[in-house]
Amino acid sequence: MAASPLLDTSRLCVHTITTQPWPVEEAIERYVQAGVAGMTVWRQALTGRDPARVGEQIRAAGLSIVSLCRGGFFPAPDPAGRQAAIADNRRAIEEAAALGAPLVVLVCGAVPGQPLEESRRQIKEGIMAVLPDAERYGVRLAVEPLHPMYADSRSAINTLAQANDICAELASPLVGVAVDVYHLWWDPHLEAEIRRCAQARRLFAFHVSDWKTPTEDLLNDRGLMGEGCIPIRQIRGWVEEAGFSGFNEVEIFSNKYWAMDQQEFLQAIKTAYLRHV
Ligand code: ZN
Repeated sequence: MAASPLLDTSRLCVHTITTQPWPVEEAIERYVQAGVAGMTVWRQALTGRDPARVGEQIRAAGLSIVSLCRGGFFPAPDPAGRQAAIADNRRAIEEAAALGAPLVVLVCGAVPGQPLEESRRQIKEGIMAVLPDAERYGVRLAVEPLHPMYADSRSAINTLAQANDICAELASPLVGVAVDVYHLWWDPHLEAEIRRCAQARRLFAFHVSDWKTPTEDLLNDRGLMGEGCIPIRQIRGWVEEAGFSGFNEVEIFSNKYWAMDQQEFLQAIKTAYLRHV
């Protein structure tokens, strides 16, 4: 069953990358003016800044900090590469703690030519290696499955079933999943796997955008909600039936939208959110 329409923006979160042309300080101000309630901070938005100070600014403006994007990219062909990835994920967890973000989203990684099973093994080892850091800082980690078109180089975890499996193996209350409709809408097992992760209390985040036909760029041509073919409201219904009551996070990478006036784009996001999420 599809969820009822959203009547307000009290659960609307926007990722800083969605309005990438704005520095984080401007994004904070504009989001608050638009009635956005939450912000997910991308690490590049923190470049040259003190994460603790940015966290204070976000909270002082009245926005909730939903998560930090992103950690991951654990697989590498050699041990030195894998160690470097682990060190970078430790820094991401520290940044999240300083910022005051309760969650780090993991785009888990893959190496072209390396068997996906091997990459998944390295992902599991990488997460195990940083779990003590997550525990020390009380920061949760969300494995985000990516659409299979990214299985070559961005993630060897491509279905929610695979993400659920790795979480079950790690068996930590700090490790869960991020459900992103862009990556998962096509999966015939999606509803069942959403129920599975919710039962295990590991549904940590919900990301929305839309799938355009044709998609002109594999990375940076995501659509605004309602512009594509994803049954977003139906998937939100599954997520909420499973007990999720967190933010609906708008995460759009789009050369087209980054080129337009960001204030107009933010208004379009708000309209599309109320109409299609
Ligand atoms: Zn996402």
